[in-house]
Amino acid sequence: MTDCIFCKIIAEEIPCFKIYENDKVLAFLDIMPVNKGHVLVIPKEHKETISDLSEDIFKEMMAITQKIAKAIIKGVNADGFNININNKEAAGQVIMHAHLHIVPRSKGDGLKLWPGGSYEEGEAEKVKQDIVKFL
Ligand code: AMP
Ligand code: ZN
Repeated sequence: MTDCIFCKIIAEEIPCFKIYENDKVLAFLDIMPVNKGHVLVIPKEHKETISDLSEDIFKEMMAITQKIAKAIIKGVNADGFNININNKEAAGQVIMHAHLHIVPRSKGDGLKLWPGGSYEEGEAEKVKQDIVKFL
């Protein structure tokens, strides 16, 4: 994709702070880190969201994510990490090339990801059935 920032990073037309690369995925520092050591893991093949990826590529992203997360924890002396994937604009995706965020966390860093809601009586069972029928 010629107008995709992440494809340009893969093609080395735009620089990045590269963390890891193999034939299927690339990982680099997020330029606007939520916390220092925030890394993006992307497939080399241009696909918009993780729903568009082959199972093989998605598994590779996850395997590399596990490897890199361990290194981040040691490298920036983090207490934990979050993995976040924004899919589509409604979910906050800004760069339309699938990517996964690894965000190192420290105790008391103050980040709050989302407020928890609740279900009405019987609603959870219906929602469960609505989802499971598509598996
Ligand atoms: P998202 O909201 O999930 O689409 O996140 C896109 C992420 O890409 C943001 O966290 C940006 O800070 C990051 N980003 C955008 N441009 C670059 C770039 N050139 N190098 C590294 N990270 C970038
Ligand atoms: Zn792309």
